[in-house]
Amino acid sequence: MRQPTELELLSTQPVPSADELAGTFARQPHENLTSDQEHARVFSRLGFGTDFTDYMAHATWSAEEGWHKKIIEPYGPLSLDPAGSVLHYGQEVFEGMKAYRHDDGSIWTFRPTYNAARINMSCRRLAIPEIPVKDFMASIVDLVRADARWVPSTPGSSLYLRPFIFASESFLGVRAASRYEYLVIASPSGAYFSNGLKPINVWVDRDYHRAGPGGMGEVKTGGNYAASLLPKVQAHEAGYDEVLFLDAATNTNIDELGGMNVFVVMADGSVKTPKLNGNILPGGTRSSILQFLESEGVKVSEETLSLRGVVAGIASGEVAEMFACGTAAVVTPIGRLASEDFDVEVPLGERTSAIYEELTAIQLGHREDRFGWLYKIMDA
Ligand SMILES: *Cc1c(COP(=O)(O)O)cnc(C)c1O
Repeated sequence: MRQPTELELLSTQPVPSADELAGTFARQPHENLTSDQEHARVFSRLGFGTDFTDYMAHATWSAEEGWHKKIIEPYGPLSLDPAGSVLHYGQEVFEGMKAYRHDDGSIWTFRPTYNAARINMSCRRLAIPEIPVKDFMASIVDLVRADARWVPSTPGSSLYLRPFIFASESFLGVRAASRYEYLVIASPSGAYFSNGLKPINVWVDRDYHRAGPGGMGEVKTGGNYAASLLPKVQAHEAGYDEVLFLDAATNTNIDELGGMNVFVVMADGSVKTPKLNGNILPGGTRSSILQFLESEGVKVSEETLSLRGVVAGIASGEVAEMFACGTAAVVTPIGRLASEDFDVEVPLGERTSAIYEELTAIQLGHREDRFGWLYKIMDA
């Protein structure tokens, strides 16, 4: 049996219901709500991360008042002093989660307490004041309730939620800031892959790392993404969709993609994923997949996976499938893995799509929520 991680344990702590939390973030008047016509136009061509809702959640932290001014306000540009410290030193953390509309019209989210525990883990690493779990949960409830008409219902669609915290103090000295903003913005999103799961081509990068020992790899902060962009640009130019990063200490073991965890499915049916080594982001999707596979009697293991072993396994057929996973795309098959000295095709198998089906069925309330992962935001 797997031992639960600290985040998994924290995420099982009880939280108040949405009705109990509602109203913590006071809704401000909105003078200019999106018209029904414009709303219909957005819903007719849902993309990912391009359209935003009418409102956003916002709170501010100061040393004197802690987290205060908790409001739901009209979505719009922020005013930030050019000396705002996030612009210079990148003191920022974020989360990614989704709200789903179930068949009866009610709105739910998936393991929000995992995201709450994780944003606070990220805060600790970046010397940012933690946000109380109740406030985090309330911001999601109050925002989604205000923006309920933006939660789509077509297959594969959802309201993507992006909580984030950044340093807003105007100060160029290098130290943890004394003022922070917490926001949640929301973006109605269509199915990541509208025509079923589409395998991606992945470049294994030997020159760059997204994170290293003692760095920030295991927390969700923009800096790790900044480090991944140049290798991603180069991989795109060479015709690849994503980059697989190796561990910075030895440059021989598989860590993760720039924003997704990776799994390999063995020909004997067992499933492996790199063990959390301090550089790998502990994905909620990764955690969910490990838990439900294990509960179904699948042999799962978290271990150091050498690149050499995985490539040899693909060539010999010992590795049957490979996929990446994360909240946005859920599960993405890896169809090709290449670097300077190898280029192998990974077969497209049934296990990857079964995992996708299972996870999305739980999220949409089509399958029993055996683990208590769903949280109801509002009734129909
Ligand atoms: C967010 C993220 C993931 C996936 O995490 P989920 O909780 O499954 O969405 C994986 N890797 C990185 C670097 C991430 O930032």
